[in-house]
Amino acid sequence: AVQLPVALIVAATHASLGIGRAGTLPWRLPTDMAMFRLVTSAPGSGSTASSQPAVVMGRKSWESIPKKFRPLKNRVNVVLSRTVTDFGPGTHTFSSLSQALSALSPTPPPASTIPPVSSIFIIGGAEIYTEAFKHPATARVFLTTVYADEEALQCDTFLPDFRSTGEWEQKPTADLRRLLNDMECHEAVPLIPEDGDRVKENGLEYAFTLWEKR
Ligand code: NDP
Repeated sequence: AVQLPVALIVAATHASLGIGRAGTLPWRLPTDMAMFRLVTSAPGSGSTASSQPAVVMGRKSWESIPKKFRPLKNRVNVVLSRTVTDFGPGTHTFSSLSQALSALSPTPPPASTIPPVSSIFIIGGAEIYTEAFKHPATARVFLTTVYADEEALQCDTFLPDFRSTGEWEQKPTADLRRLLNDMECHEAVPLIPEDGDRVKENGLEYAFTLWEKR
């Protein structure tokens, strides 16, 4: 069984939930990147000095990270692939999501090659998100909603429409602020605009939202 709650973290367009284009991100959103780094690096309330958060990603998302930025620092990097068994130093590879989630633990067995993990973030892409939405351990979604001209953005990769299934509930922004504080992620809170406002960057507007499994 999975010992830690699992959260998705993703930026997607408002109308069609577009997340990617031609193997990369369809935008450059510096404040969202800062939020991603802070949230996925947060020690978490139950953390110990030796444990770090884990980021779980698909092989294509791993390849989309510039070489100088990977593995993502201060996080346990987990890459899922059915074809590649080793992505190099500082990475851990599994051939299924459930195997990966079961291996990530605050107290791994002594023989484990995986270090202790304080929390688990699913960081993409579409294939991994789609599977993670169906996994019972997935409890939370940090969704950056991007308000954009969807035609102009030309996304070719999308999230499944989890918002309309009735399984997920959007929480008030106050809950997101409280959760970030509980996660010891205090630096992220000031990145959230006043209620009703959006971040405006590079001609796009976006909002940080929190969703929880009902
Ligand atoms: P993924 O990153 O989801 O990687 C897919 C690969 O992961 C597969 O080809 C396979 O690798 C492996 N894989 C998938 N499912 C499993 C499984 N259950 N077990 C083991 N391995 C598995 O690719 P996508 O094309 O879906 O998404 C990439 C796009 O998403 C890019 O455009 C990227 O920029 C974007 N993205 C956007 C984000 C956002 O927040 N907007 C965040 C992250 C990515 P193999 O073929 O080696 O077997």
